[in-house]
Amino acid sequence: MQRTLAIIKPDAVEQGVIGKILARIEQEGFTVCAMRMTQLTKHEAEGFYAVHKDKPFFGSLTDFMSCGPCVLVALEAPDAIRKWRDVMGATDPARAPAGTLRQEFGASIERNATHGSDAPETAAFELGYFFRGLELIDR
Ligand code: ATP
Ligand code: MG
Repeated sequence: MQRTLAIIKPDAVEQGVIGKILARIEQEGFTVCAMRMTQLTKHEAEGFYAVHKDKPFFGSLTDFMSCGPCVLVALEAPDAIRKWRDVMGATDPARAPAGTLRQEFGASIERNATHGSDAPETAAFELGYFFRGLELIDR
């Protein structure tokens, strides 16, 4: 079993598709281990995406991620990291395959509806950034 961090980003919350995305998470066979709705501060968004701090889009990305509420979801499944990224599709919705969440709900490479950890080390950092060990339920 593996865990990954998913985020239903502010653009998806604004569209009113929290429920559709959670339904897809369950249909795909993930177990939800923890979940919380929050509005990130700019500072929290900067800390979360610190790996991108030298990218030209860092300021805009962290403005977007703190512009409204998002939903943080810890997911568990065999090969959860890769599996969740497959369900999301490519970073740029224009390049995301039909049937993926970003193709369906993303508007641009920045406003792309969902986040997913990209490796075991980043999943561990990201899950720990938002959830205390006690909040991650073994099911
Ligand atoms: P995420 O980390 O959110 O799951 P990702 O791993 O597919 O997405 P990253 O390269 O880690 O993509 O980029 C993080 C986020 O930064 C993207 O999801 C997107 O919101 C934004 N982003 C990435 N590239 C660009 C870009 N060229 N212009 C604007 N925003 C971008
Ligand atoms: Mg990433």
